[in-house]
Amino acid sequence: MQRVVERTQIGQDFFLQFPGQESQRFPGLNRTLARQLRDASATGELDFDTLIGIATRYYDEVDEERRGIVRSMQMMSDEAQELTRELREQTASQLQAILDHVKDVILTHLHYDHVGTFDSFPVAQFHLQDDEMAYATGRYMRHKQFNHGYEVDEVVGMVRMVYKDRVSFYNGEAELAPGITIHRIGGHTHGVQCVRVNTRRGWVVLASDTSHYYEHFEKNRLFTTMFNLGEAVDGYATLKRLAASPRHIIPGHDPLVMERYPAVSPELDGIAVRLDAEPTY
Ligand SMILES: [Zn+2]
Repeated sequence: MQRVVERTQIGQDFFLQFPGQESQRFPGLNRTLARQLRDASATGELDFDTLIGIATRYYDEVDEERRGIVRSMQMMSDEAQELTRELREQTASQLQAILDHVKDVILTHLHYDHVGTFDSFPVAQFHLQDDEMAYATGRYMRHKQFNHGYEVDEVVGMVRMVYKDRVSFYNGEAELAPGITIHRIGGHTHGVQCVRVNTRRGWVVLASDTSHYYEHFEKNRLFTTMFNLGEAVDGYATLKRLAASPRHIIPGHDPLVMERYPAVSPELDGIAVRLDAEPTY
């Protein structure tokens, strides 16, 4: 039996010295292991096998503990995922119960981010401009710069809806119900339309992609996806003519809309806002 532990500095560096050798430094040795080695050597002697035994046991325990932590983290994550999945399914089925009864859907245009869920409306009639269907199925779709906003299966799906008499076509303006009118604007796509709704604060215009951001209609700027620049810029004037004031125009993709209007309810904070309420700007 030989004394091999020279000294320990708990939580800092740990030194070992074997007979006839230089002292060796083990930087940052774990506090618990250092303490175990120091205690073992307190009796005066600690041979190499005992030292290896202590270190091996210590690292086995640490490994086991780590594996345990990883296992419980995995379980927590599985449970969280399961809970999220259940909630999502519940929400989806509640939402579907509503969508099952929706009778009318205004499609401002057929870009994928505006038509993508049309098959979630099993009984709805879709309201679309003639020019939009002609454009989405016509000669310009040969070109990447015009077809990139469309998903061909969705366009084909809408053609199938035509064959089921579930698409109503318009050429310009129409009143769909008292206080709800649609207006062909063009520009961004050949048949993109805006929707005008009479609210408690007056006529609000849902610009959709006729003005992606506030600055488009405010500064006559143009979005990059564009079929007809002239119609787009003319369209800004139409939006202003249709709305009770520029503060009544709601751009299609501007995050400021969510900031400027109050949430429908605390549960829908960040998801849906009331556009019939006065904005905060
Ligand atoms: Zn679009």
